[in-house]
Amino acid sequence: MLGWTGNFLKINLSKSQAVTEEYKQDLALSFLGGRGFAIKILWDTLKQRTDPLSPENKLIFATGPLTAIGLPNSGKLVVASKSPLTGGYGDGNIGSLAAVHMRRAGYDALIVEGKAEKPVIVHIKDKTCEFVDAKDFWGLSAFELEEQLRKQFSRTVGILSIGPAGENQVKFANVVSQEGRAGGRPGMGAVMGSKNLKAIVIEGTGKILLSDPDEMQKLASGGYRELLAKPLYQFWKRQGTMSTVEWSQENSALPTFNYRQAVFDKAEEIGGFSMEKMKVSNRGCPQCNMTCGNVVKDSEGKDSELDYENVVMLGSNIGFGDLAQIATLNRMADEFGFDAISLGNVLGFAMEASEKGLIPVKVGWGQFEETKALIKDIAYRRDFGAVLAEGVQAASKAVGQGSSDWAMHVKGLEVSAYDCHAAPSMALAYGTSSIGAHHKDAWVISWEIKAGRESYDPIKVDHLIETQLTRGGLFEALTVCRFPYNSLGFELEWYQKYLKAATGVEFSLQKLNEISNRILNLIRAFWVREYKEKWSRELDVPPLRWFKEPLTQGALKGTTLDLEKYNEMLSTYYQKRGWDLRGVPTQSTLLRLGLVQEAKELEAYVKLEKENEPLVNKTLQNTPFL
Ligand code: SF4
Repeated sequence: MLGWTGNFLKINLSKSQAVTEEYKQDLALSFLGGRGFAIKILWDTLKQRTDPLSPENKLIFATGPLTAIGLPNSGKLVVASKSPLTGGYGDGNIGSLAAVHMRRAGYDALIVEGKAEKPVIVHIKDKTCEFVDAKDFWGLSAFELEEQLRKQFSRTVGILSIGPAGENQVKFANVVSQEGRAGGRPGMGAVMGSKNLKAIVIEGTGKILLSDPDEMQKLASGGYRELLAKPLYQFWKRQGTMSTVEWSQENSALPTFNYRQAVFDKAEEIGGFSMEKMKVSNRGCPQCNMTCGNVVKDSEGKDSELDYENVVMLGSNIGFGDLAQIATLNRMADEFGFDAISLGNVLGFAMEASEKGLIPVKVGWGQFEETKALIKDIAYRRDFGAVLAEGVQAASKAVGQGSSDWAMHVKGLEVSAYDCHAAPSMALAYGTSSIGAHHKDAWVISWEIKAGRESYDPIKVDHLIETQLTRGGLFEALTVCRFPYNSLGFELEWYQKYLKAATGVEFSLQKLNEISNRILNLIRAFWVREYKEKWSRELDVPPLRWFKEPLTQGALKGTTLDLEKYNEMLSTYYQKRGWDLRGVPTQSTLLRLGLVQEAKELEAYVKLEKENEPLVNKTLQNTPFL
């Protein structure tokens, strides 16, 4: 096989064993890599209804055929597992030297299973794997740990680790690498903690065999040059995603006070231009020439890496208008190993519940010391922190009193940083994303605002599906960063050329779409298999606050989403995906994508429709939430 290494490393922590497993080229051609490998491995090897925090769950770190061959923005990997936060498929991508080393060590993916008896660090060096006692490292923050591991091994090793939040199995703990680089929002860090795995250290020195190395070299430098010449390049380097703060404010999309206002009176103070005044350097993922991590000094004089999502969720969403304080909260999130989006969402829930007098904790909007104390309580599961450590869905069940209407999540994953009171297709993107309410698969809100935000037209569904296939399918399978394409206009054709030079295989855009579709359908089938009789289309509906409680401020004050129209749009979405009215892929859809065995297996859990039924007047049936 060229381009791919053709190997996975299977690590059994219960037995302290690591075995190289060759896989067939068919798998690579059908699923490409990254998210594609992860869902196929989970589908094939995980027993239905496995407890996500049990030794039986698998934690997968997967790369793609373009990783580590010196191409623009290709130093990423996908971390995936059955999620303890949602009970469904969970993943995230991380820019990390570990991705580069993994491929140079000769692996396309690591599959971790079992549970170590005591805390352990797995050290992989090319084809050797040792299990190092981690008793002196357990309890360290992700930053302290990384510093110590770099001293012990070398400055240039790849490291994937957890902080105390992962150790304590906080359900939205993530996996951390190179300080500000982290991923795996739906509790991938908690899965790692449940396995007593503090870190993976990886060093690879081998070469990846390519179909046409000379052509690849030309294409790689051509790609970097092309990016440098893009009109938006210089501004991107200055602000990365931070300019979105001002954009969201102008367009009433800024999460504010737990998604109530969509505008914030201190938006300018936390926006891209304010950040620029504080910025001390850029950080980024390996093999990237448009690094977007904005490093600033926080209120305690320490480095913190800012981007839009983190600043907004730990800023306007919880009433903070001081960027240095936000930077401190953000650094704490990275050190403890929390997903910062979910943390900001959970804190917003707690602050609203406190304001309403529903919980024993007193924590007000924008109160710095109280917020820091609560973050620590969540990390160590102390007092009410233990309730919040379960995520916003579980916390709202514990609090009751109507709080589920303003627990901002989909399928248990906390909503990321776009208010959707006035953005139906972005709401649908959250509703139907592969992992719960995340923007990664389909950031359609800026397109939607230009196209007319009040409309629920089927054209929006077409655009959403196209975006999901590209961002959620192709980029997550290639494990390359979406920002060159998304934010600078780097054309998709580059990736076809890269794939040809790497693998020797010609992938048309149609073929790539088919692979993406296969991956996203198998992910959907996995959710249905895990939820079984609990599966329903209600799970694809975003938080009720956006339907029931109008925006309280700004130009769009008074706006809500329309539940009936959303529901019709959801049915249209299902129809176009080839799913039935429950949101379950039909048999013909699965068979068309070559998921023959998978269709048979899914049939054992839920009766599959043969074909989609036409929509005629059927859209409002099976909708108990109306
Ligand atoms: S643009 Fe940002 S997220 Fe993408 S590879 Fe570069 S540093 Fe990483």
